[in-house]
Amino acid sequence: MKEGRFKVGVVGHPIKHSLSAVMHNAAFRELGIPQSYSAYDVPPTQLKSFIDNCKKDFLGLNVTIPHKVEVIKYLDSVSREANLIGAVNTIKFEGGQAVGYNTDGVGCVKALKAEGVEVKNKRVFVLGSGGAARAIILSCLLEGAKVSNANRSREKAVALREEFRKKTGKTVEVVSYSEFGLRDELLEADILINATSVGMTPNINESPVSFNALRSGLVVMDIVYNPLETKLLRDAKRIGCKTISGVGMLVFQGAESEKIWYGVDPPIKTMTEAVLRELK
Ligand code: NAP
Repeated sequence: MKEGRFKVGVVGHPIKHSLSAVMHNAAFRELGIPQSYSAYDVPPTQLKSFIDNCKKDFLGLNVTIPHKVEVIKYLDSVSREANLIGAVNTIKFEGGQAVGYNTDGVGCVKALKAEGVEVKNKRVFVLGSGGAARAIILSCLLEGAKVSNANRSREKAVALREEFRKKTGKTVEVVSYSEFGLRDELLEADILINATSVGMTPNINESPVSFNALRSGLVVMDIVYNPLETKLLRDAKRIGCKTISGVGMLVFQGAESEKIWYGVDPPIKTMTEAVLRELK
């Protein structure tokens, strides 16, 4: 099939472990989009010139570590959500302009919905105050959830609470990242989302929450997707919690990017299968 005129891909540094290309290329094949999605390894010093050059022949880009925050200053405008989060993971190029979006938070909320879990009026406890956590917390707040947050470096959680209170008028409750703090909060929470990198390969026997702090009525999502089943999810499953892996968020944030670029309805099942094949 002839390649489309406008390119799409992901920019990061390093980029070789990204699953985005297999996921989007599987979707493009199914949708008959004549484009292949590529990965671009661009160091921070070259990011500005890379984005400027993309304005000529790109339709869209995903942005990943370490560029999600820095890239904002090279864009012509950003969406309300990306502005509130303070990070961009998707860019659309149109008429010589680069517009930034953030689909991470909405991707997480849609992954929960796909599993029958609504966040509206629920108490959602998010572990971590890094980039992914910020996006998830903002989307949950906008969806009408009551959000609590704990982070290893408490000052980051407090700063996030103050920033989001000013920007949205909504309050995130800061909880102590200690054994007792986590256990007490989990007695109240409906949904636990791990948005730290604890448990990620190669540290597959680590969990951010001790087994004894979990209880059976909880929904537990881990946004870490490598390994597919983290220790947190293994523990939660053992005591009968509903568990959701990070693959759903990965797929739905990618699907939201495709909607922004092409206005299509992305094939979630095909994208999920492509990611799972790669991870297994
Ligand atoms: P980030 O901005 O670097 O944030 C990392 C977070 O993890 C911080 O809150 C950090 O706490 C915490 N953390 C790191 N090591 C820790 C430890 N040993 N004990 C306790 N807390 C620790 O990274 P990010 O972009 O938010 O990504 C976080 C994780 O989510 C990564 O594993 C990433 O692969 C995954 N992710 C998944 C998806 C998806 O679609 N499923 C999307 C984005 C990210 P401090 O502030 O105290 O350092």
